[in-house]
Amino acid sequence: MPIDPLSDLKIIVTGGASGIGKATSRLLAQGGARVMIADIDEDGGQAHADSLGEPAIFQKLDVTSQDDWSVAVSRAEEAFGGLNAVFNNAGIVGFGGVAKCTPEEFRRIIDINLHGVYLGIHCCAGALKQAGGGVIVNASSTAGLIGYASLAGYTASKWAVRGLTKAAALDLAADGTRVLSIHPGGIETPMTENIDEEAITQQPIPRLGNPEEVARLVRFLLTEATFSTGSEFVIDGGTTAGQVVDFPDD
Ligand code: NAD
Repeated sequence: MPIDPLSDLKIIVTGGASGIGKATSRLLAQGGARVMIADIDEDGGQAHADSLGEPAIFQKLDVTSQDDWSVAVSRAEEAFGGLNAVFNNAGIVGFGGVAKCTPEEFRRIIDINLHGVYLGIHCCAGALKQAGGGVIVNASSTAGLIGYASLAGYTASKWAVRGLTKAAALDLAADGTRVLSIHPGGIETPMTENIDEEAITQQPIPRLGNPEEVARLVRFLLTEATFSTGSEFVIDGGTTAGQVVDFPDD
């Protein structure tokens, strides 16, 4: 169902204390949306909510905890008079190829990046239905479209988020709820502090994206993309467009 204008939006943004979640919650709140900044980072999340003023509230939430989700949904419904959107954005990166990545580390990445998104959908679906339908945007990655060396757990989690998005879109369509995934390439946030600069210079748009560019895509998906569900939206400077090969021109 279309959420228009932006001021009708009542949303939980996980990982809202930093990076993409911070920029998105700011853009939405500045447009008049009611925004719950939900994060394990209590100091950062509270300070961000305070800086946004009245439209925003902070809620401590570990995305892997079903109890935390129950509390967050109840509080959002009470504070906003309903809930009609979720940005399942919280995530972690973990380096290590498939041989190096320990079972414990692999499970930790899957738990936050995949199980956290599943819980976000599972725990919010009823509230969105109650609101007459809504929108769920899930943060996948270009690592949900192609493979990356030394990112075994992360890549597995982001492909799974892409698949879960499609299954949820089919399951929740009857409620009037759309479910979409976004696939950013390298974006300048604390997560990419140690990124390989050389790889970035090889892509068609040879720079990191900035979190505000992703925030504008998410705003579009939430409020304008009324004929899209179960689909992927790529924002990657052309990283996944293909490979430049030095073939002769003619
Ligand atoms: P970031 O590290 O800047 O922010 C992540 C936020 O998630 C932090 O505020 C952190 O406290 C929070 N968080 C971590 N674990 C949590 C948990 N268990 N429960 C609740 N909150 C938790 O990261 P970012 O770059 O803004 O990334 C946001 C999302 O976008 C992630 O899912 C990431 O995988 C994805 N992504 C990022 C990039 C990139 O280049 N930055 C590229 C593709 C996809």
